[in-house]
Amino acid sequence: MRPTKLLPVLAACAALFHLSACAAPAVPPAPSAPGIVSAHGRLRTAGNRIVGEAGKPVSLAGVSFGWSQWEAARFYNAGTVNWLKQDWHAQIVRAPLGIHAEPGSYLQAPAANLARVTRVIDAAIAADLYVIIDWHDHNAHLHQELAVAFFQDMARRYGKHPHVIYEIFNEPEQASWARDVKPYAEKVIAAIRAIDPDNLIVAGSPHWAQDVDVAAADPIKDANVAYSLHFYAGSHKQGLRAKAVKAMNLGAALFVTEWGTCDASGAGPINEKSVAEWMAFIREHQLSHCTWAVYDKKETAAIVRRSASSKGGWKDTDLSPSGKYVRELIRNWSADPAK
Ligand code: MG
Repeated sequence: MRPTKLLPVLAACAALFHLSACAAPAVPPAPSAPGIVSAHGRLRTAGNRIVGEAGKPVSLAGVSFGWSQWEAARFYNAGTVNWLKQDWHAQIVRAPLGIHAEPGSYLQAPAANLARVTRVIDAAIAADLYVIIDWHDHNAHLHQELAVAFFQDMARRYGKHPHVIYEIFNEPEQASWARDVKPYAEKVIAAIRAIDPDNLIVAGSPHWAQDVDVAAADPIKDANVAYSLHFYAGSHKQGLRAKAVKAMNLGAALFVTEWGTCDASGAGPINEKSVAEWMAFIREHQLSHCTWAVYDKKETAAIVRRSASSKGGWKDTDLSPSGKYVRELIRNWSADPAK
């Protein structure tokens, strides 16, 4: 049964011991009880698996925010992060810093986008959730100096927190692994490692984070690097899973930092059959996954409608059909060996 807003608000008021003086917050605060990061600690690769500090594989379910500069911008706050934890039972969130030379992006408006992303990171750490700091760019190899500076800043601010995962190149497109993407990754990873020696780093591969087999055949030399695997259930099926198996057989650990219920464009119908096949694959291989995404554009992949509050507290009517569907999936995720 879904929790109502009333009970957490009352609990928060009672905790203050001054019921009459307690102004009800719009969104309940995150509970102070230890969460998922306290359970597993800092993540690391062990062969082709990602494990917690106890050495057991960890399979997390969570949600990505949308690009920081567009329809998702208003949701980059603690209210939404806490709601995703409490109501969606998300164990991980992803904060995609929107690059690209368009009005409002990080290249044009760095301070505003940085503030959004750090609000989500800070809130996730406070809520004891894992958080992916994502350089959300299709041409990161053309922005290497900026990416290095950004990740140095992130490593200084957050490298001591076991919650944090760095995703250094969202989705390369046609760029070459050997010539463009891998050299970029090596530069960014060296910059992070000079500051933060141990947090998990996730590297992208060409063709929208699908050429994991190509990356695995010529891997990055770092003790704690995994490779992102992105899929959209309407577009990507067994062929992509075969590439993923090939990569894992070569020793690569994979992390589904982004997936969608629909076509790769973000539109088209929800493909429940394909999602079920992907989730069986994810469970079999004990992968972690973040669904795309928290934003309110009128397209399938957006999980909320325009009516949704910027700070969580969403009713069923505030969710898109895909939002209702993935909420159930994440709430019922049971591959977590800690449960
Ligand atoms: Mg660290």
